[in-house]
Amino acid sequence: VDEVGALLPVVGGTTTVPLVDGTQRVYANLDYAASAPALEAVAARVTEVLPLYASVHRGAGYLSQVSTALYESARQTVARFVDARPDDVAIITRNTTDSLNLLAGVVPDGGRVLVLDVEHHANLLPWVQSSERHGNRTTILPIARTVAETLDALRAELARQPYALVTVTGASNVTGEALPIDQVVALAHAEGARVAVDGAQLVPHRGFSLTSTDADYVAFSGHKTYAPFGAGALVGRRDWLDTGTPYLAGGGAVRDVRADRTVWQPAPARHEAGSPNVIGAIALAEACDQLAALPAGALAAHEEALRERLVAGLSAIDGVEVARIWPDSEAPVGVLTFTVPDHDPGLVAAYLAAEHGIGVRDGRFCAHPLLAHLGASGGAIRASVGVGTTSEAVDRLVVALTQYLSTGPAVRYEVVDGCWAV
Ligand code: PMP
Repeated sequence: VDEVGALLPVVGGTTTVPLVDGTQRVYANLDYAASAPALEAVAARVTEVLPLYASVHRGAGYLSQVSTALYESARQTVARFVDARPDDVAIITRNTTDSLNLLAGVVPDGGRVLVLDVEHHANLLPWVQSSERHGNRTTILPIARTVAETLDALRAELARQPYALVTVTGASNVTGEALPIDQVVALAHAEGARVAVDGAQLVPHRGFSLTSTDADYVAFSGHKTYAPFGAGALVGRRDWLDTGTPYLAGGGAVRDVRADRTVWQPAPARHEAGSPNVIGAIALAEACDQLAALPAGALAAHEEALRERLVAGLSAIDGVEVARIWPDSEAPVGVLTFTVPDHDPGLVAAYLAAEHGIGVRDGRFCAHPLLAHLGASGGAIRASVGVGTTSEAVDRLVVALTQYLSTGPAVRYEVVDGCWAV
């Protein structure tokens, strides 16, 4: 189970953290879905290129030339990582949120957008906002009881009126579940709609192929893909991106500016005004290369084994309930959410951190409609895994929760604004 961690070591994989009893313990990081630690190879690459970096695209100096080449090559690597088609374009953004807001700005006027309320707010609110700006263009479809019923509802809605875009999660940040993307693409394309995939939780864990799924766009984040914060990507069809409203207005996005007219560049420059995150893009590309070099299927097998171990352990505890959106969804990624009914999730998470050195997340995970659907509007607890997660960390969570329910916490915790204290 833990071989992938040895193949791709992460920075700080054996960091110890203080416990409330004054001892130290190796941190059990079960919060990869929020942000994954950087790979050691990524850190080494950043150290290597720091002496070389300079402003890109406009400098004639040697370092500017080198930086420009590295930045543009990072763009190609990122596109290759999601198996982009030759005509696709990759835009370097800040993160998935940025990518989806960018996409929301280039959907042609009059084009309607269809989204499910299973989404992370990053794939919900840009469409809500764009609907407010562009006159009620977005339909939010309620989650149906099964994957099959959800696909039926999508099919019916697509037949009812024309859509320009269907935008769906590649994997839920709450339960790891997903709709079968190829079926969503088939339904949407049959009715002339494009498909965007929020790949934040999918791309780092399973990879993604624009070519084989035939999806039109994919968005993902560097900080969930074992690179530092601040770089992400939107990759997909060139036409809307070449002609749509530039995401950021400023230097680098224009070909010619006069007092009375502005001639914008096509994509990607059109949407990347200002000095870009060169180091972030290079780091993201290195992470992509490292993940791509793993033996085929190794990462998915590692994460599936850990998730199954976790589900088995948690399901065996009386008083812990693991959430599912659909009973018929297949192979969720390594993210799961559970509740301990009658126990405040914030206090349980504080106990796990303070007494066992376990990092989980609690709350509503930026997916309020989904948490309401799951009957967990009061919040829940999420555990998620990745390359550096060990089976020991997973087992520690199961033991800790068992102990919590039998003997309770050693001290009283208070949670204020997401921070706990004793
Ligand atoms: N979509 C999903 C499914 C996510 O899990 C997240 C991050 N939790 C986002 C979008 C937003 O990602 P970012 O914060 O990197 O923009």
